[in-house]
Amino acid sequence: MSEILKREIKYVSGVGEVRARLLEREVGVRTVGDLLMRFPYRYIDRTRIFRLSDIDESMESTYVQLRCRVVGKSFMGEGAKRRMIVEITDPTGTAELLWFHGIKWIEKRVELQREYIIFGRPTIFKGRVSLVHPEIEPVEQALSRKIESGFQGIYSTTEKLSQTITVKAMHTIVYNAWQLVAGNASAFVDPLSDAMRRRLGLISLREAIYNIHFPQSAEMLKQAQYRLKFDELLGVQLTIQARRNSRHKRAGGFLFPRVGEAFNTFYKTKLPFALTGAQQRVIKEIRADMVSGRQMNRLLQGDVGSGKTMVAFMSMLLAVDNGYQACIMAPTEILARQHYASMSRFAEGLNIRVAILTGASKAKERRTALEGIASGEVDILIGTHALIEDRVQFANLGYVVIDEQHRFGVEQRAKLWTKNQQPPHILVMTATPIPRTLAMTLYGDLEVSVIDELPPGRKPIRTYHYFDSARLRMFGFLRQEIAKGRQVYIVYPLIKESEKMDYKDLEDGFESISRDFPLPKYRTTVCHGKMKSEDKDAAMSQFKRGEADILIATSVIEVGVDVPNATVMVIESAERFGLSQLHQLRGRVGRGGEQSYCILMSGDKLSKDGRARLEAMCATNDGFELSELDLKLRGAGDIHGTQQSGEAFELNIANLATDTQIMELTRNEALAILEQDADLSRPENISLRELRDRHKRREHIDFSDIS
Ligand code: ADP
Ligand code: MG
Repeated sequence: MSEILKREIKYVSGVGEVRARLLEREVGVRTVGDLLMRFPYRYIDRTRIFRLSDIDESMESTYVQLRCRVVGKSFMGEGAKRRMIVEITDPTGTAELLWFHGIKWIEKRVELQREYIIFGRPTIFKGRVSLVHPEIEPVEQALSRKIESGFQGIYSTTEKLSQTITVKAMHTIVYNAWQLVAGNASAFVDPLSDAMRRRLGLISLREAIYNIHFPQSAEMLKQAQYRLKFDELLGVQLTIQARRNSRHKRAGGFLFPRVGEAFNTFYKTKLPFALTGAQQRVIKEIRADMVSGRQMNRLLQGDVGSGKTMVAFMSMLLAVDNGYQACIMAPTEILARQHYASMSRFAEGLNIRVAILTGASKAKERRTALEGIASGEVDILIGTHALIEDRVQFANLGYVVIDEQHRFGVEQRAKLWTKNQQPPHILVMTATPIPRTLAMTLYGDLEVSVIDELPPGRKPIRTYHYFDSARLRMFGFLRQEIAKGRQVYIVYPLIKESEKMDYKDLEDGFESISRDFPLPKYRTTVCHGKMKSEDKDAAMSQFKRGEADILIATSVIEVGVDVPNATVMVIESAERFGLSQLHQLRGRVGRGGEQSYCILMSGDKLSKDGRARLEAMCATNDGFELSELDLKLRGAGDIHGTQQSGEAFELNIANLATDTQIMELTRNEALAILEQDADLSRPENISLRELRDRHKRREHIDFSDIS
């Protein structure tokens, strides 16, 4: 980075010591470079003057520019409550401006009968337009001022900062900073060569920075955004792809060349159904990795109910047939027990041994598992995160499957592979589909397999949204389904901060259901995280065996639970759940041949996002579509540009939800660059290295390097 960009911000005209300190503290801007690398999150067209009659509710809290005459000036209140009210008018109407502080200063600058350009955010109350603390400038002065660009950038700010540095002042400061570097040809070293820019049709970095702050046209703004997103994502991809290359170099993989007896016997004589095309394809993909000599690091995405368990089991047989042990780690006790039950059944007559280990394992079960796994007698170990404990010592672990990956922390996962000298092959399965772009970022160095086909004969689940007032109708529907012999889940939210109240909701719910669905006609049972593990199991197996009609639960049943006769999923206070959780819960039904239903109950008052989530659930069953939408919803409305900051890479301008195409482009470019210069050590690549290293800081949150 050139010297001029490293200069402290206080030397920029219009800043000074006080503002400099404020800028650093509030938004982390210390240098000229920091300032210029903070881009506007929105633009307003300053060539456009609105009429008062144009302003309606839809424009509340967006910036507008007005040209009005001052026709009245008055004061109200005393002392700290004193405010100034200015009446304004244009040929189409009237409005008022309000000041609560800085009155002395503004009072002298507002003259009756004079015309002003007014800039601010309108609010409308009882049909009356008002603007609080607008910027105001006499018309002659405003029109004589040379403006750098018709579009004025709006920079994210904080409450504190905005009191000292207005929208306009910020704009001026950025302009002054730009003036410092404008004449300095070497201020911006373009990381991309001329040839590369020409090939990809990208404008220069310098042009991009200028136009992102002072767009010379709508087209130039687009070009600038494209170029800056490109740089940002190229940096991300250089980080990820370099890591992938080094992993491939570093870790040799176990070879599983044989397709042996266990696999073949199971396939020919025990497979309970024909595999779907997608299941077959994924098993082939896994097998190809296992004979490649490289360690497999594969993410398997498949919507709820797509049959991932069978893929896991059959690929574990491949390991076992080659003399290695395999394990599968599930996020909950319930799910681990369920896997153990079905896999023990699958394994009958295959001459292999399956064991289970969870936090709730009794002494005998625990001993059997630990001893068997250490001696090599146990071939397949199933469990929860108890598998990560130090005392679990495998004789020769060759393959690890992680079910429903999103429930595990990264460190937890990483611990499992340190159990071996050589890392085992790894399959991470998830039913929470990750949007493609996000997968490419977070898991850029994982291979990805997708099961994009459900087993045949499934009927799409019908989803409805009811307000609480329609509860009786919902009950009527449940009675109908139960009368047909079907079973019902009713799920209550459990959000950590208010656990106590949440359990109360669930208990109240249980009471009311027991009243409205009385014994002996209806049998209701409960399952939640606070219960002892035996009680949970007892409730679950009761429901599984069809001895309960209604299971009242928290989202402990969110993942994996498989009861094909259950056809209705009622989700209480559905607005409190995230989209992916709603989708997971819905996936508990629709597992048999019967028509299934998901009923989302909510209060009357819904936030905009809450409503959008429920509407999306009713509109589609496609987990990928929902996850894309989820990303957009969570990203929307965040003006501080940190919408993805919870993720591995903090992005300034690119958007993982929408910039798929640029992401793919940069991926290929990054691969090509690294092929020539693997660690970017050549002198001509120094600024590419800077691009890459911007993302190094956050490497401790490393989702992709799981081995
Ligand atoms: P998930 O991908 O959500 O983990 P599961 O592995 O639990 O899905 O499978 C859901 C249900 O579908 C199970 O009851 C399973 O036995 C059944 N199933 C899986 N694959 C097939 C198939 N190819 N044909 C028919 N049923 C299948
Ligand atoms: Mg599953």
